[in-house]
Amino acid sequence: LGKLFLKNCRILESDTKVNIVISNNKISQILPFDEFVCYDNSYDMKGNKVLPGYIDLHIHGAGGGEVFKAEIEEFQKITSTLVKYGVTGITPTTIVNPENDYLQLRKLKDCMDHDFTGTRLLGLHLEGPFVNIIKKGGIPITSVRDYNRDELLKIINILGDHLKMMTIAPEISPNMEIIDILLEHNIVPALGHTNISYEKAHKAFDKGVKHVTHVFNAMPSLHHREPGPLLAILERKDVSVQIISDGVHLNPAIVQYLYNSIGIENCVCVSDGQSVIGLPDGKYDINGGLYLKNGEKATDIDGNLIGTALDVGNIAQKFQKFTGCTEFEANQSISNNPVKVLCLIDKYGSIEFGKIADLVVLDESGSIEQVFIDGALQYEKITD
Ligand SMILES: [Zn+2]
Repeated sequence: LGKLFLKNCRILESDTKVNIVISNNKISQILPFDEFVCYDNSYDMKGNKVLPGYIDLHIHGAGGGEVFKAEIEEFQKITSTLVKYGVTGITPTTIVNPENDYLQLRKLKDCMDHDFTGTRLLGLHLEGPFVNIIKKGGIPITSVRDYNRDELLKIINILGDHLKMMTIAPEISPNMEIIDILLEHNIVPALGHTNISYEKAHKAFDKGVKHVTHVFNAMPSLHHREPGPLLAILERKDVSVQIISDGVHLNPAIVQYLYNSIGIENCVCVSDGQSVIGLPDGKYDINGGLYLKNGEKATDIDGNLIGTALDVGNIAQKFQKFTGCTEFEANQSISNNPVKVLCLIDKYGSIEFGKIADLVVLDESGSIEQVFIDGALQYEKITD
């Protein structure tokens, strides 16, 4: 690999122009614009913006590929599609199929062991199966299980280190023990698809839950006599939340309210993206059902939302529009912040000395020019 020299890069944080040196796969130097080093391998970024690559913690598929199917070809479709959208890292997200003694999870493990080109896999995110049936939302009943400690340990055992995050309803386990077990195994517990009370939500956060899956969706609404988890979430400064800021899952005013009340550092934009990302509008078979892609929306034939057809970069752009935040802050919500949730902050999420060079280059109009992963060019816009 050797050294790579990216000259004339505009950095969002300081809005200055710099030259970036990448050694092997890491950022080894950030030099002032006028300080020049000559390497064989150099790119002129022409003053374009260089951003940390986008990270999506909640994504079910892309390019026609579905995580749920747990096949190598499906994963390859996902990683090769998302990289074109500047997404350099994901936690592939899926509901669980318990059939045949969790055969799906065994196959998912094989997928995670495989080397793909394109977007980096940062570990699996399981949405369930230990969620509250009352708040299952779009999760089919066959993918929801009563809490059972042995079954949880079995799932953890099958996936090993590949299991990074699990969306749970802690209230369905005795003394919310599911939280302790996940933390013991270095798995991020994410509160979601839950019917937890206000008091218990605070207890869950005190126990170590620090992240919330698609806030406001699949949990009780704020009520003046039953404040529910939302008031607890809004009161915490140590809990980050997934925000689907597509303008449909959350009213733009709610997105703005979240930004103002919990602060940018706790905002993690996610797509909840489906396999139709990157496909033309039309009818598609997703997970055995017929679905429609109409622009940014993915719905079933009755018009019920099933996540989005939007990539996380677009979601963050809408977040910026709804909140009036800076471009740097919008990027934080899909780089630094999600990486913090995964405890991978020493490797990814910012343009700093020692970080892995997963970078997105945007032109003046905001469209993606290049994407680098591990300091290697993975995507370049074709210009004629
Ligand atoms: Zn969900």
